[in-house]
Amino acid sequence: MGLIALTALLPGCGRREIVRPTPQMDADSRFWVRVLLLPNATECTVAAPAPIYAGAHNVTAALPAGGATGAALDSPIRVTLSDGRIHLGATPHATDEVTISTEQPHIFSLNGQSYRGRLKLVRNKDGRTFNAVNVVPLEPYLAGVVGAEMPAYWEPQALRAQAIAARTYCLYTKNRFGVNRSWDVSSTQANQVYRGLSAETAQIWNAVTATYGRVLVSGRGQSPETGLFPTYYSSICGGHTENCERVFGEAFEPLKAVPCPYCKDVARMGMFFWPMAQFDRATVTARLVQRYPSLEKLGEITGIVAIEKSDHDQFARLTRIRLTGSTGKTDSLRAEDLRLTLDPSGRKIQSTICHIVPWGDGWAFLSGRGWGHGVGMCQCGAEGMARLGKSAEEILQHYYPGSAIVSLY
Ligand SMILES: [Zn+2]
Repeated sequence: MGLIALTALLPGCGRREIVRPTPQMDADSRFWVRVLLLPNATECTVAAPAPIYAGAHNVTAALPAGGATGAALDSPIRVTLSDGRIHLGATPHATDEVTISTEQPHIFSLNGQSYRGRLKLVRNKDGRTFNAVNVVPLEPYLAGVVGAEMPAYWEPQALRAQAIAARTYCLYTKNRFGVNRSWDVSSTQANQVYRGLSAETAQIWNAVTATYGRVLVSGRGQSPETGLFPTYYSSICGGHTENCERVFGEAFEPLKAVPCPYCKDVARMGMFFWPMAQFDRATVTARLVQRYPSLEKLGEITGIVAIEKSDHDQFARLTRIRLTGSTGKTDSLRAEDLRLTLDPSGRKIQSTICHIVPWGDGWAFLSGRGWGHGVGMCQCGAEGMARLGKSAEEILQHYYPGSAIVSLY
């Protein structure tokens, strides 16, 4: 890649830092990604070290540098919405969308956080809120993901495996879900965590550039057009990964359960084994009905029993749960959906490798191990394999068996 470091004054921090130019700003629109940074916002602030331009565009991808229709604006600007119009400072914009672009190094800041690429402000249909979307090429996007998803000091081969998995996941998600909405991926763990410039280090950029354009496809002979699959990954599988179908209800050939003897030595003990979590009946009922209104017919939830699980050597991952209610009716739910409905942060019920037992006026989740859904690559396991001298390719082949690496560009 041969990126040349240049010095730029970053907005909001007031000190000089070495900042790489943003690569791929002339990439084909297929290789740009729209990252939802702020959903349903009513205001935000935008700044940039270079002159910024604002204009209305129907395009979602490459624009010629400085080719926007508006005039250069002084930074920082406060963005608001009034009378159904997006205002940049005092200037109202008549269109539904405003794209803000800057000159090299193509960096802007939104509410004090720096990102690469362009910023698109999209008015929502309600006329009262807008979405702030970062339109950024795939490679600089990944620099903001890999460093947010893995510690930058981890082994280079683990970081490379993470870069390839994240690149694939992003492109798959964009192609499948981005078509009828103004964004492709969220910037949270709902998809993959993206922190923009603050996640970047030299090691992270090395992992991105060493795997430049490489993605996973579901088997040999597949192309990026036909073979991408959702390369799920999670923090700590707990000793064995899980079949995708049993967690997300959809099967993909390389997303099969495999043993993972690697994460136990990498994860901290207090993370690998997690402490008991308790939830009372009222909380369980309220959260389930809010998320799944059809469960209201059960009345108050009085019983939670695992009806399907995957048995591994010394433990089992619960995969399906039967709920019983005070009306005597029953229903069932995937265990992963129960977990994230009761505990959306995933920090109390870290995984579905646990026992659910009646406890006081509710239930306890006991003997838990692992962290995350357990499908695809185990991130701590990837680091464990890298420490044993395995390559990124070997790591990916272990967690996505039968998959193959191909180049996008
Ligand atoms: Zn593992």
